[in-house]
Amino acid sequence: MLLVSAPILGVSEKAALSKVIDSGWLTMGERVRAFEEAFATMHGADDCVAVSSCTAALHLILHALGIGPGDEVLVPSMTFVATANAVLYVGATPVFVDIESADVPLMSIVEAEARCTPRTKAVILVHFAGYLADRLEWQKFARARGLQIIEDAAHAPGLKEVGTFGAAAAFSFYGNKNMTTAEGGIVIARDPDLRERIRQARGHGMTTGTHQRLNSRTPQYDVTMLGFNYRMDEMRAAIGLVQLQNLQEWNEIRRILTVLYRRLIATKCPTVAVPFSQPRTSAHHIMPILLPRYAKRQDVIDELRTQGIQTTIHYPPVHQMTLYRERFPGTHLPLTEDFAQRELTIPLHPQITASVVEAVVSGLAIALSNCAQTGAAA
Ligand SMILES: *Cc1c(COP(=O)(O)O)cnc(C)c1O
Repeated sequence: MLLVSAPILGVSEKAALSKVIDSGWLTMGERVRAFEEAFATMHGADDCVAVSSCTAALHLILHALGIGPGDEVLVPSMTFVATANAVLYVGATPVFVDIESADVPLMSIVEAEARCTPRTKAVILVHFAGYLADRLEWQKFARARGLQIIEDAAHAPGLKEVGTFGAAAAFSFYGNKNMTTAEGGIVIARDPDLRERIRQARGHGMTTGTHQRLNSRTPQYDVTMLGFNYRMDEMRAAIGLVQLQNLQEWNEIRRILTVLYRRLIATKCPTVAVPFSQPRTSAHHIMPILLPRYAKRQDVIDELRTQGIQTTIHYPPVHQMTLYRERFPGTHLPLTEDFAQRELTIPLHPQITASVVEAVVSGLAIALSNCAQTGAAA
């Protein structure tokens, strides 16, 4: 089965893991620190905070910004549920905002404007599929209303603009992301005070970590805030350090494959639309396509599966999940809902070759011609 995404792990990761085990120090040590420094350097940031997941990263950012009950946070619905969940964790209210268009399935500024109230405190931007939101436009929007910008950058590691939009950015190293530590995440926050509050809240609000106490004469620590256990361990950091060395090359392969997909789909499957038709900076996390209205998506999924090609859907809208439907009834986002009904994600990862891309597009063409025939017969 050709998978939509697959991690790349090899001898270097194995060797790095062995070294951690031989070292006898398993969590929050030198490797976590080295990983933070290397990730910060790649993104032109002074420092960052490694955590246990992107979800934890989003929670810590909202917590450190003091967002809580009574506050509203603008979020897309075309995202993974974690984006909105983090808002609920701090007791604030997620306010779902529609996408700009089927071609640009990023949060619409016009719609965001319409959903602002005196209670709105922040906006979480998701760089959907790796394509960056418009930085200057959003900064102008946020400045005019005194809002914080938080980036959910789970799809966009490795781009130097990411982490520069506003208060902070959250990254994911889950197994299907552009680079992985199995589970893991990181926060870029440029303001040192905000960053240190996040760092402290990561480890129960303690004033020092275990590794720091080992290297200092005083074994004392204090707890000065209610924090969490969102620490990263040395095994994950060791894998992350290896993965980070490959990230730029892998993102470049993703870009080349995306260009090829776009060219082949335009000629072989002209009824299929590929979002982001205009050039835009991207980490090319996934390859979303939009099926024509005559196609039955399940039939296309089934046909591709018969050909050994996995597909997925990004995303079933968050506002339509039972939890959110029950809590926020009556939310209607027409463009998000239409996009979600026609979207299909086809395989994209650095181990795919040009001939595999050709095979996927040929498979798609067959699936669509089956649909057209069934449609004509019906
Ligand atoms: C994967 C993902 C997350 C959650 O990441 P975890 O590291 O699994 O917590 C959040 N937001 C988006 C957009 C994602 O794709």
